Parts: sequence; structure tokens; C-alpha cells
Amino acid sequence: LLSLRDVRKTFRTHGTTQVVLDGIDLDVAEHQCVVLIGASGSGKSTLLRAVDLLDDVDDGQILLGGLDIADPWVDADEVRARLALVFQQYNLFPHLRVLDNLTLAPRHVHGRRRADAEADALAMLEKVGLEHKARAYPDQLSGGEQQRAAIARALVGNPDLLLLDEVTSALDPALVGEVLDLLTALRDEGTTMLIATHEMGFARDVAHEVVFLHEGRIHERGTPAEVLDHPQRPETQEFLRRIR
Ligand code: ATP
Ligand code: MG
Repeated sequence: LLSLRDVRKTFRTHGTTQVVLDGIDLDVAEHQCVVLIGASGSGKSTLLRAVDLLDDVDDGQILLGGLDIADPWVDADEVRARLALVFQQYNLFPHLRVLDNLTLAPRHVHGRRRADAEADALAMLEKVGLEHKARAYPDQLSGGEQQRAAIARALVGNPDLLLLDEVTSALDPALVGEVLDLLTALRDEGTTMLIATHEMGFARDVAHEVVFLHEGRIHERGTPAEVLDHPQRPETQEFLRRIR
């Protein structure tokens, strides 16, 4: 479904250049859950933002269902309709009720009728266990509920691919589990996902493939057992030792 081929990106700030993505090759097949791990600054968010077209890349191809979305002439709205990115925090519009957060894009971007969009939104809220919060505002929800609502909003457009960037790292530890359980349920249903996380236990549970990024390069990839339990590369071993 998603293929990155030799993707490169360099940031230039104040006369210094930093290669942040250094020839990334990555595939996410339909119904697969691929988990990106790596130290802070290794390029995980940059990679996800590039796929969501929030950042452009300097070189390489990003193929989504065969279409090269790194091509500057690609219709970004069309691409974003097929993808959804959820990040650490501030995903919801604070001035809109939860239900209206979920129906905003379907109604105003895709021209759905209000009643239809609301029926779909309520079904999605039920799925994430938040039907009773449909009329609440985001600041009346716990952090975990807000993230579940954000994931529901991402799913209501029925994207081909769900991108998740550290969706639990801003949460109280007690609220992390409910969000991870939701993502595990989505994985079991066959939702195609590319996830960046610092939660190694979650990576182990959910990933079909774990990909270790280090300084903008993929140093190691494989099953959770291979990468997390039997890392081959010294960089991976060092990373896992530090976080344990
Ligand atoms: P974390 O685990 O902390 O979220 P990450 O793996 O997501 O880290 P990125 O956010 O992708 O890392 O950042 C990779 C590198 O790119 C970092 O060194 C960062 O400083 C740099 N970087 C990211 N965004 C920009 C930007 N807009 N301008 C300049 N440098 C940037
Ligand atoms: Mg990041």
C-alpha cells in the first residue's frame, strides 16, 4: 500500500545542514502494522510528516497505492483523504464539540449531509467507547479520551492508512493503556498503520514489523522478537539498553 524508495530530506538552519532522512526504504502492506522506533531526533516524525505531505522531501519516491505522492504536482487534498495522521496532542479543535470535530471534514470537505455524517460519527465514537461524550467539548475529556476521539476522527474518513506519532507520550501513565488497547483492536481488525512510539511493550504487542531508525537511516527491521529481543546491530542494542 505504502512504499518509500530512497527518501531523503535535509534541514538547513542557520548555515548548518542536517540530513534527517538518509535514503529510507520502507513498505507498509495492506492490513499491516509497522512500528518505527528510534531515539529522539532519529527522524520518525519527519518520516510520518513526509507521508502526510506536511513536509516535502528532497529526493526519493513515496508511493501510495502506486501513486507517487512526493511528486509536487500531486493533488494533496486527494492524498490526505486517503491518509490520517494523529500526533501527540492538540489534535481536536477546542471550540467544537466532539461530534462536530468528527463531522467537520466529512461535511465541509466531502460534502456529506449532516445527518449521514453524524450517524457515521456516532458509530465511530461508539467503537472507541465515547458515544456518551459526543456533545462534550475537548477540554471536558481526559487526555486518553481526547486521543481516542482524535483517532475516531481520523478513522471516520475511512483512510487507507493511519499514521500515528507518539499518540500516548503526552498522556498520564494511567491513561496510556486505553489508547494502546484501542490501537491493538484496530490492528486486529486489519487497519493499516504506521506508528512511531517509545512504548516498546506496545511495539512488541502490535507490530507486524518493527523498524529501527538511527540518524535518519533504517539500521534494523524485522519481527518484534527479532529487533527487540535479538537485535543484531550495535546501534539497536545501545538504543534498547538506554531505554530499559
Ligand atoms: P522524537 O522521538 O523526539 O519525536 P523524532 O525521531 O520524531 O524524535 P524528528 O522530529 O523527525 O525526530 O526530527 C529529526 C531531526 O530533524 C531532529 O534532529 C530535529 O532537530 C530535526 N528537525 C525536525 N524538524 C525540523 C525543522 N522544521 N527544522 C529544522 N530541523 C528540524
Ligand atoms: Mg517525533
